[in-house]
Amino acid sequence: MISSRALQYQYPQGPSLRFADVELTQGGVLLLRGGSGSGKSTWLALAAGLRRATSGDITVAGQAMGQLSSAARDAWRARTIGFLPQKLHLSDALSVADNLALVYFAAGLPTAPGAIEAALTSLGVADLARRKPWQLSGGQAQRVALARAVLLAPKVILADEPTASLDDDNARDALTLLQATASRCGASLVIATHDARVLVALAQAQVLPLHSGESPGPGLIDGPVP
Ligand code: ADP
Ligand code: MG
Repeated sequence: MISSRALQYQYPQGPSLRFADVELTQGGVLLLRGGSGSGKSTWLALAAGLRRATSGDITVAGQAMGQLSSAARDAWRARTIGFLPQKLHLSDALSVADNLALVYFAAGLPTAPGAIEAALTSLGVADLARRKPWQLSGGQAQRVALARAVLLAPKVILADEPTASLDDDNARDALTLLQATASRCGASLVIATHDARVLVALAQAQVLPLHSGESPGPGLIDGPVP
């Protein structure tokens, strides 16, 4: 479902990152584990087709990212990837339901009002549909963002530090919901984290370790990539 080979990314005015190879089956769970600056968000951006690898390649749901034209990438992403970003990017000017409706707009699909209600219901937040995001708690906002991420039944769910700003109860809920939602969609799940609570709760998951700074191994390296 996701496989990467010799994946590297060089920021034009920044560091070189190289990543260990990944093989993740459909329905599998992968943790990107590493501290701040180790390349977790970069890996997610490569998997989502938001950045293009400098060398090597990553194949997601049968699509080699390097072979996808930039024109096709947005439509592919909308159909394939459910992204839960670290900053949720919910628009405070729109209701919760209208935030979800934007997904159809971005994907060039007709809105399906029943699906929006169903997605909110599956995450226990249907009663919040008419609220504005600024009227939600952190845990509620994250449920809404997860409902938005899975609205089009993605094949892969990518979550960037989903527990970082949550207390223990909400963090546990978020992990349970992420796993339940992924298995309901039959989706593979990738969680970027350096939260010990996640590493303990998902001790069975496959791990891609990333290292920042001087540590050897995959992840951030100093100087040009050989
Ligand atoms: P993480 O998500 O694990 O904190 P990132 O993938 O965001 O790590 O960043 C990895 C490295 O790349 C860091 O050293 C960071 O400073 C650098 N970096 C991230 N984004 C950019 C950018 N747009 N331009 C230059 N360097 C960047
Ligand atoms: Mg990050």
